[in-house]
Amino acid sequence: MSVVAEFPISGVTPAPPWRPSPARADGEVRTSRTHSSESSRALLNLLKISQTAAREMTDATADSAFTGVISKGVLRSLLGTLHHRHMATMQHSRRVALVAFGLASHLGWDGKQLRILEVAGLLHDIGKIGVPDTVLEKPGRLSPEEIELITLHNNVGFDILQACRVDRQVQEVISQTQDVYCPDLESAENLRGHELHMGARILAIADAYDSLATEQPHRHAKGHAEIMAVLQEGSGTQFDANVVSALDRWVNQEGLPPAASNENSQNPAPSPCPIDDREADTIGQIFSHLHTLERLYDGFHLVDTDGRILIWNRRAELLLGRTAEQMLGQRWSCELLGYRHLDDRPMVASESPMLKAIETGKTSLLPLLATHKNGQKIQIELQAAPLFDEQGRLQGVAEFYRDLSRNTGKQSHNFRDLKLAATRDALTNVANRRELENQLVAMIEEFNAKRRETFSVIFADADHFKRVNDTFGHGVGDQVLIDLARLLTQETYSGELVGRYGGEEFVVLCPDTDLEQAVRRAERLRTTLRKSKIGGLDRLRVTASFGVAQAEPGETVDSLLRRADKALYKAKGEGRDRTCSYTTADLLNSDTTVNLSSVMEPFLYQSRFTAVVAADMITYKLGGFVNDHHARLTTVTSEQVVMTIGKTGLLASLNPFIRETPVELDLTMDGLSDALAKRGVPRIQFTVSIRPLRSVRSSTAFHERAGLLTADLKRYFVAD
Ligand code: GH3
Ligand code: MG
Ligand code: MG
Repeated sequence: MSVVAEFPISGVTPAPPWRPSPARADGEVRTSRTHSSESSRALLNLLKISQTAAREMTDATADSAFTGVISKGVLRSLLGTLHHRHMATMQHSRRVALVAFGLASHLGWDGKQLRILEVAGLLHDIGKIGVPDTVLEKPGRLSPEEIELITLHNNVGFDILQACRVDRQVQEVISQTQDVYCPDLESAENLRGHELHMGARILAIADAYDSLATEQPHRHAKGHAEIMAVLQEGSGTQFDANVVSALDRWVNQEGLPPAASNENSQNPAPSPCPIDDREADTIGQIFSHLHTLERLYDGFHLVDTDGRILIWNRRAELLLGRTAEQMLGQRWSCELLGYRHLDDRPMVASESPMLKAIETGKTSLLPLLATHKNGQKIQIELQAAPLFDEQGRLQGVAEFYRDLSRNTGKQSHNFRDLKLAATRDALTNVANRRELENQLVAMIEEFNAKRRETFSVIFADADHFKRVNDTFGHGVGDQVLIDLARLLTQETYSGELVGRYGGEEFVVLCPDTDLEQAVRRAERLRTTLRKSKIGGLDRLRVTASFGVAQAEPGETVDSLLRRADKALYKAKGEGRDRTCSYTTADLLNSDTTVNLSSVMEPFLYQSRFTAVVAADMITYKLGGFVNDHHARLTTVTSEQVVMTIGKTGLLASLNPFIRETPVELDLTMDGLSDALAKRGVPRIQFTVSIRPLRSVRSSTAFHERAGLLTADLKRYFVAD
C-alpha cells in the first residue's frame, strides 16, 4: 500500500518516468548511458541472468536432476565459462565433485543433499573465472596482494551464485570449505570454533585430495599414500577425522572413480557444457565488473522495474545486517532500508537518489543514514545508477554504498579469509609486516596509555643468508625461511607474535616482557636454531643475530624498531650469531660521543705535508715518534695510522703536551708525489688530522698544541 505508492517506479503504477519515452531515450539520457556503459551493461546482464535463473528455478515443468538446487542453464553457463577461462580449474572442479559425490554416497547420502554437495563441488572455484591467468598460473608462491585478489574474486563468485538463485546451502558449503582448506594459507586458524556443514567437511577433503594429487607450479603431485599421510596429519583439527578414515576405506575398497583420477588431465577434455565465446565473455565481464564493485564499495543491491530487490550482495548483508534471504523479492522503499537524512529526519522517496536517478536518467549520489537490522544508524554515501537496455529502456537501478563511519572509506571487511590473507606472509605463513606494524601500534598505544605494563621486541636476521641462496639455491633458501619462521613460532609460548619483517628478517613481539627476559628469550631462540636441522639439509647450519629493545616511556613505533634494529646491527658487527640489546640511555651515551665530536669539529686541526722518505722507512720513522710521545696505536693499515696521545695522566711529567687534553692523531698517506718520484726522489704526501678526545676550553691553545705535534712529526720524516 503505502510501500507500493512510495516506490515511484513500480510496474503497478504505470508512471511515465519509469519507462522513458523514445524522446527521453536520446539526448541527455543517452549521454549518461555511454558514460558508464561498461558498468551498466555488466549489471544489466547480471540482472537478466538473475531473472532467467529465477524463472527456471520455479518452473515446475523443468526436469533436471538439479531442480531446486540450481537452474540447469546457469550451471551450464558458469561451468562453460570456467572451461573457457581455465580448463585446469574446470577439470579440478569436476574431479572434486566426483570424489565428494562418491564419498558422500559411500557414507549413505542421497537425494537433494547429495546434489547440493555435487553442485558445490562443481562451483567451489567459480570465483577463479575472474582471476587473471598471470596469477592463476604463477609459478611459486602468491604474494599477499595476489591472495587478496583471489579472495575478492571468491566473494564475486558468491555474489553471482546468489544472483543466480543457487540454493543457499550450496553457497554455505562452498563458503565453509574455503574456510576449512586453502592450501596456500595453511593456518591453524582454519578450522576453529564453528559448527561446519557436513557437506563442507566432505568437500574440503575432496578438494585437498585433488589439489595434492595434482602437479602444481609450487608443489609436486603426491600419490594416495602420501596424500593420506597429509590428511591424517590434519585429521581432527583441519579435517574431520571420520571423513578422512571414510575416504581411505572407500578408496581402498572401491578405488577412485576413473574420471576422478587426474592421470590424464594433460589431455584437453571437451567441455561438458559447451557455450559460445560470446556467452563466456559476457560472464567474464560480469565477474570483472563485480570485482571492481567489491573493491570500491561496501555493498550494493539491484532493484528491478517492479521495485523488487533482485540482488542483495554479501557485503550488503554484512553492512546492513540483513540477509539476502530476508531482502530478495522485497519491494524497495526508504522505510525498508531505513534511509534517513544525515540530521536523522526520515527520508521520503522523492528525496532519494533512487528517484533522482530515475527522473534524470543519471547517476545520483547522496550521503545519508541507513539503518542496520539492529537499529544502529550507519552513515553511508549512496549512489543510485539507472540501468538501461540497448533500446534505452530503464531495466532497473543499482544502489552502491560506502560506509562513511569508517575513516578510511572502503576497507577490507570481516570475511575471515580476507583478513587472513591480508595479515599473513605468503611464504612463511607468519604475520606479515603490515600486521606486525598494526599490532605494534596498538601495543604502543596501550603502553603509553598505561593500559599495558611493558613489552619488548626482538629482531632476528639470518646470518650470511645470501650465501645459503648462492650455495644451495633459492629453493633451499625459501625452505630455510619457512623453517626459521616455524622454529620461532614453535619456540615462543607466551603470547608472542612472530612476523616476517622482510627478506630474511623476522620480528617477535613479546607482551609483558622486560628487556632481561626478552634477551634471555632471544638467546634461547638463537641456541635452539644453532642446534636445529634447517632447510632440509644435514650439512646446512644456519645461525641468526638478534637485536632486542624494550618499550620505554614516550616510545613510538619508529623509535622502538630503530633501537632494536641498531642492536641487531651491533650483533652483526660483533661477529654475528649473538644477541645484543639497547636502551635509550645506551644510545644517548653513544650519541653523546657522536654529538660531541661534531660539536668539536671547530677544534679539528688538519695539515698536509710531503715527506722525503722511502716507503720502507716510514714504519721505522713513525715508530720513533710513537715511542717518544707514548702514543697508543688504534688503527694501522698500509695507508693510515691512527693513534691517541696523552691519554693518561701518568705520562704528564714526561712530555709537556701530555699535560693537555688527550688527542687523536690520524696520519693518512695520500700517495706518492708523482713528478719527484719519477726522478727517483722518494717523496710521499701525508695528511695529518688531530682532534681532541675531551672538550677543550680554548681552540687557540688546542691549535697551538696540534701545530707543535705536527711539527714534531715532520721532523721524524724530514719533511718540508
Ligand atoms: P648478514 O649476515 O649481514 O645478514 O648477511 P645476509 O647475507 O644474510 O644479508 P643480506 O641482506 O646481504 O642478504 C639477504 C639475502 O636474502 C639477499 C636476498 O636475496 C635474500 N632473500 C630475501 N628474501 C628472500 C626470499 O624470500 N627467499 C630467498 N631464498 N632469499 C631471500
Ligand atoms: Mg641476514
Ligand atoms: Mg637482512
